[in-house]
Amino acid sequence: MIQNEAPVIANSLWSATANLASACPALTDEVEADVAIIGAGFTGLSAALHLVQVGQKVVVLEAETPGWGASGRNGGQVNPGLIENPDHAISKFGLQMGLRMIAMSGNAGKLVFDLISRNDIQCDAHNVGWLRAAHNTAGMLNLEKKARQWEAHGAPMQRLNASEAAQLMGTEAYIGGLLDPRGGNIHPLNYALGLADAAVAAGAQIYGQSKVQAITSDGPLNLLTTAHGKLRTRKVLVCTNGYTGDLIPGLRQTVVPIRSVQVATAPLSDNLRATILPGLHAPSDTRRLLSYFRTDAAGRFIMGARGAYKPGATRARLAQARAVTTQLFPQLADVQWDYEWGGYIAATADHYPHLHDLGNGIAAGLGYNGRGVGMATAMGKVLADWAIGVPKEDLDFPVSKMRGIPFHNLHRLGVEATVARYKLMDRLGL
Ligand SMILES: Cc1cc2nc3c(=O)[nH]c(=O)nc-3n(C[C@H](O)[C@H](O)[C@H](O)COP(=O)(O)OP(=O)(O)OC[C@H]3O[C@@H](n4cnc5c(N)ncnc54)[C@H](O)[C@@H]3O)c2cc1C
Repeated sequence: MIQNEAPVIANSLWSATANLASACPALTDEVEADVAIIGAGFTGLSAALHLVQVGQKVVVLEAETPGWGASGRNGGQVNPGLIENPDHAISKFGLQMGLRMIAMSGNAGKLVFDLISRNDIQCDAHNVGWLRAAHNTAGMLNLEKKARQWEAHGAPMQRLNASEAAQLMGTEAYIGGLLDPRGGNIHPLNYALGLADAAVAAGAQIYGQSKVQAITSDGPLNLLTTAHGKLRTRKVLVCTNGYTGDLIPGLRQTVVPIRSVQVATAPLSDNLRATILPGLHAPSDTRRLLSYFRTDAAGRFIMGARGAYKPGATRARLAQARAVTTQLFPQLADVQWDYEWGGYIAATADHYPHLHDLGNGIAAGLGYNGRGVGMATAMGKVLADWAIGVPKEDLDFPVSKMRGIPFHNLHRLGVEATVARYKLMDRLGL
């Protein structure tokens, strides 16, 4: 169970199958650091690891425990690339920065798998590629466009016809697909716990149950206050993504927290398991309200879907994820469902993650739009570069001004309306 979480989204497979987590006591003292990191998900932990490796004194403050947020709850899909295609990044950010972002995001999967092998992180990592499954002709055309643009940047892409896609997935529900060999999948919570252990082994300090309640400045220094401790530092990295509160005025309004949920079965019999995803791929389909699915190390089947904010509506979405499973894999009709859980992603208005310099040595990296296993890890590395003084022109991601999303206080209504519109468009095949 995820501690201190609403029961409807707390029964997590990843928590139930997590490696033993190292103790992370609360901050109860006054300490100092070169860099303070707020939030121990992939962004904060990757930043911590990259910073201690270049000799910085790093303290991470986490409101709960490492991996408690989206990083310990997600689908574990290691997705290379940005949501928008490479040409879009170049037209929006210019050739030089666009190319940097393409390289950074394209290599994000490699960064994840390299960190895992270099630090011997036990997280069931499979670098088998990221499989996109086309649900209709428009979906296939989008994948083709994506493939051509990435190939122009040297990324090898494997197009799949209907029977090749069916062979890899064990369902004939899709008309084709695209395999991006740079991706794969992991046990997300064990990846987060492994990053935390690696950062601590290299010299970082991580405090759990240490929610930062306030940041005040004392000249160039920042003083972070928790319930029982204080941290004095020059640099602060805010890595709170979909769990961003009001610590930094205006930051919460730059992203919309959206719930994503998953359900998982009991371990499948060997016979059933042999019929589904034999190559251990973790596909996502091309629907606007996409389905993403995979198996875990014990052969449980996992289906993910968009969640809702209220418990009743969330239960309906969880039931829908189970129903989609049996549409795709009728052989799972009578299977036992053991887990259902969820968490918050952070959506941005332009579908790009954001890196903000907030002044007085404070920066934030957030807004992965549900694609943060690779990108949050990569953003952590960019934040580490920023903290050690790499000029913004030389960073691999553009530093942008904070811009609040208009009518942010109505975001729940907006998300539900968008979900209803997308549902209709998916049903009409648009
Ligand atoms: C159900 C689900 C499925 C997903 N599936 C995928 C997937 O398959 N592939 C993929 O690439 N991405 C996926 N994502 C998205 C991905 O998980 C996130 O983009 C990524 O984990 C974000 O990492 P993060 O470190 O920025 O934030 P988080 O992991 O959310 O961590 C933020 C942390 O900040 C802490 N915090 C907040 N405020 C404070 C404070 N004041 N003081 C101290 N700590 C604070 C929180 O407790 C939290 O632990 C999914 C997300 C969800 C919810």
